[in-house]
Amino acid sequence: MKKEALLYDKLPDSQVQCHTCQRRCTIPQGKTGWCLTRLNEGGVLYSLIYGEVSSLSINPIEKKPVFHFHPGTRWLSLGSLGCIFRCPGCQNWEIAHWSGKYPTAAYYLSPEHQVEMASSHGCLGLSWTFNEPTVWFEYTLDSAKLARKKGLYTNYVTNGFITEEALDTIAPYLDVYRVDVKGFSADTYQKIAHTPDFEMVLKSAERAKRCGMHVEVVTNIIPGVNDDDVELKGIASWIKSNLDSDTPWHVTRFHPYLKLSHLYPTPVSTLEQAREIGMNAGLHYVYLGNVPGHDGENTYCHHCGSLLIKRYVFDIIENHIREGKCPRCDTQIPGRF
Ligand code: SF4
Repeated sequence: MKKEALLYDKLPDSQVQCHTCQRRCTIPQGKTGWCLTRLNEGGVLYSLIYGEVSSLSINPIEKKPVFHFHPGTRWLSLGSLGCIFRCPGCQNWEIAHWSGKYPTAAYYLSPEHQVEMASSHGCLGLSWTFNEPTVWFEYTLDSAKLARKKGLYTNYVTNGFITEEALDTIAPYLDVYRVDVKGFSADTYQKIAHTPDFEMVLKSAERAKRCGMHVEVVTNIIPGVNDDDVELKGIASWIKSNLDSDTPWHVTRFHPYLKLSHLYPTPVSTLEQAREIGMNAGLHYVYLGNVPGHDGENTYCHHCGSLLIKRYVFDIIENHIREGKCPRCDTQIPGRF
């Protein structure tokens, strides 16, 4: 569905400037922005994908992955079309690398219907995921406002390239900000995301934290692309210094796909080394992802080391946390439990 965009300026000669993501495209009349989901029609900027749902499922929050916000709860997960990056190994490229042309399987779901669906299926909240939620910002904002009224939580699974003004607009209605930090250099970001501006991603995550959102960070480690120790140390010390040592960091295994099919899966030893880097930097909760049955999937008390949550992939096998605390040493575990 077509709907006027919320955050843009009108410029001379019927041009517009979009302020939804950090690309801040200047768009001539009759053209779309970089993401192909926003069209300048007669000097008015429209979102072309308002409410256009390409993917919908109910998942445990662990699948996002988010480990410290009501573990084991079910969330309605929705995705649309398009993205503000074009990652060469994207697992969801069929929707995220949308060409801007139909037919692509998507159908309209109103914010009211979405919220009703989540409530009636016993979900704790809504996750906008699968593609970048910022591209259908207006829809997620309307839905998040409704979700808040109905007592549901909300979660952005994001690449973090949102603008300050967009983040500030949705912040009062957004509970969880699960952000990818894909590397720690302009060069790595240029290779993966076609932008060198990785510091914008960091600043947005810091802003989300200051706004009171629950923040968890994911780095999908790609052999030969972002597995350099210096970059991983950079991410770990940034989390410690600019978010905090309690912020979970998920280091996940890359599987060869799409334009990166020629690479090999991330060795488990690389992920273990990344986890060590995170712990040595002072982070309390560093998790391994996409390595079923590994100890790094579990939550251990950062104070006494007791096993608190045993996981297998997205399932909780044991949960020993009591009223948010470690049952052995009574330490408060960061997050919401
Ligand atoms: S949301 Fe799309 S049109 Fe707007 S600035 Fe980002 S890439 Fe450009």
